[in-house]
Amino acid sequence: MTLMDDKHLYSNFEYESALSTGTGATPKDTVNNSYLERMRARRQQEPSVEELVSGILHGDRTLLSRAITLVESSLFAHQRKAQEVIERCLPYSGKSVRLGITGVPGVGKSTTIETLGKHLTSHGHKVAVLAIDPSSERSKGSILGDKTRMEELSVDPNAFIRPSPSAGSLGGVARKTREIITLCEAAGFDVVIVETVGVGQSEVAAHSMVDFFLLLQLANAGDELQGIKRGIMEMADMISINKCELDMQRAELAAAQYRNALHLFPMPESGWTVKVTLCSAYTKQGIEDLWNSVMEYVTFTKQNGYFYHKRQQQNLRIMTEAIENGLRERFYNAPGMEERIESLKQQILENKLTPYAAADILLG
Ligand code: GDP
Repeated sequence: MTLMDDKHLYSNFEYESALSTGTGATPKDTVNNSYLERMRARRQQEPSVEELVSGILHGDRTLLSRAITLVESSLFAHQRKAQEVIERCLPYSGKSVRLGITGVPGVGKSTTIETLGKHLTSHGHKVAVLAIDPSSERSKGSILGDKTRMEELSVDPNAFIRPSPSAGSLGGVARKTREIITLCEAAGFDVVIVETVGVGQSEVAAHSMVDFFLLLQLANAGDELQGIKRGIMEMADMISINKCELDMQRAELAAAQYRNALHLFPMPESGWTVKVTLCSAYTKQGIEDLWNSVMEYVTFTKQNGYFYHKRQQQNLRIMTEAIENGLRERFYNAPGMEERIESLKQQILENKLTPYAAADILLG
């Protein structure tokens, strides 16, 4: 089915495109009340897979949101419908630049995303902002939980901000976020930003789904260098010292220290030399350069083939992860498993059984 056919099919449905420019308000005297009522009733109905796919491909934000709600739902019927929508959107996905942003809470991730996002939308980009925060619950999620965050971007018609899928296992949250990326890309968003909370394993998950990974840091480099996990620095394609306007000298010094530290790391597989820069989400200093670096990276890695190689590797890893998660789920959800585990635990505590023997019995 072509996009045009879809549009025809979709013509009865409420239409609010993020991709098309508005056709202007409908003159009041032509508003047909029964039409509006029909639309209202329709909106309350559960849209079909066709309507969702068609809406997404036309950049309809309302239907994109509804599809994401299905992705996030734990109901089996919703999950099945979501999978159908995702599969049909897959051929239209993959065209965005996926940017991961991490850093400790308070470093300025949201503010930077707001400033960068506004810069991008003012240059004609369509920006989707997602988050990975396995600890978040919808009501108190880190992203947008506090309403003052990303104030301007959240009302920008060319931006779409979605909080982290609500609390669950990291694997589950990561999977949902990947699926949401597919939907956003099919809806025409050409920049996808994935924010992580900057503590624990969530950055590993984010790294596994983005093209470029930005680590935001503060100027108190001495302590930061000590505290920061080597693994996170190794994942970064760029380190930016944020809030640099507070003390340029200290920020420069911190940048120099990071550059020195990076010299000790092996060359990344991408062949890209990790950049260390200064930025200020307040004064906007370095924000344009930040985006230029992302584009430079994309051009560089597309030329040397790493860009596609990395995406392929990410896809293969997703499969492996899905197998591992599936096995784990089946194991723990097997009938009577909980009781059997409990009884074997007891035997281990009483020294009647070694842990390995217990595991073997259960796996068997
Ligand atoms: P997040 O927890 O990493 O998302 O950090 P936020 O974006 O919420 O920022 C934490 C605090 O730092 C907020 O009070 C921001 O207003 C402030 N902030 C963010 N960026 C800058 C900056 O460039 N300069 C200064 N001075 N403050 C900033």
